[in-house]
Amino acid sequence: MKLSIKVESQIKKTLKQVHLKKTDKILVALSGGKDSTTVAYTLHKLGYKISGFHIDLKIGKYSEDCREAVEKLCDDLGINLYIYDIKKEMGAGMCYLRSGIQSASCGAGQLKNCAICGVLKKSIMNQQARKLKTKYVATGHNLDDEAQTFLMNIMKGAPKLSANSGPITKNISDKKFVPRIKPLFYVLEDDVREYSQKLNLPVVYEKCPCALDSYRIQIRKFLNTLSEKQKRNILKNFDLVYPRIEKLKDLKLQYCESCGEPSRNKLCKKCSLISFMRN
Ligand code: AMP
Ligand code: ZN
Repeated sequence: MKLSIKVESQIKKTLKQVHLKKTDKILVALSGGKDSTTVAYTLHKLGYKISGFHIDLKIGKYSEDCREAVEKLCDDLGINLYIYDIKKEMGAGMCYLRSGIQSASCGAGQLKNCAICGVLKKSIMNQQARKLKTKYVATGHNLDDEAQTFLMNIMKGAPKLSANSGPITKNISDKKFVPRIKPLFYVLEDDVREYSQKLNLPVVYEKCPCALDSYRIQIRKFLNTLSEKQKRNILKNFDLVYPRIEKLKDLKLQYCESCGEPSRNKLCKKCSLISFMRN
């Protein structure tokens, strides 16, 4: 089967599964990488109402290249782009914020770069998507990312952490929480790479220089030894066990005392990380 037909039909399958409507306002979280760029390109091609959202993390030249790629993409597609400049909004670039958190004493030093960055990005995305009154945030997570996360959570002995996985965040509905959708949930990473290269989309193919999460890298290496069928079977297992995992989920949601974002505890994950720096 032609690659573009394969990729686009897998995306359509996901969009149908999450009941996405052509009139829904969608904010695509654009990193500048191949995955989120492909999400914006295909959603736009299929006639969905999208805008772009980019967090400029200020990680030197890498962030400059990412911002440039995202600006070019949105220009080419003729869509709005909202940029969140982390230095302006939070007072420092991601490297500074992250090392401040890691060097704090409360045991947070154990936290991996990507874990800290991920928490901050998710919080910013939700806050900004709500401000912009969008119905969904679309991210570029692909089949390989999802299979990696599912396996990592099993190996950590914490399947409960997978409770918000799936093509749509199956979180408790809350007026302050903007659901996230993953149009590439059934698309292999290699297929996304080839698709974006064939279309010559403006993409930064290098990995973030701070992505040093050795555990995920190890799992990725293992997954890359598997066939497409075996990778898909991991997600099939996820679908089968999901109803049981969902029951383990913490259903209580409150609002963070500091920033007002939806949170499972008094302080949301982002504010508790930031508070380490202040102590
Ligand atoms: P990551 O957490 O880097 O694996 O990225 C997962 C998804 O989050 C990407 O596919 C994007 O949709 C989104 N994302 C990552 N980095 C950014 C960023 N700097 N700005 C906006 N969205 C991002
Ligand atoms: Zn907070």
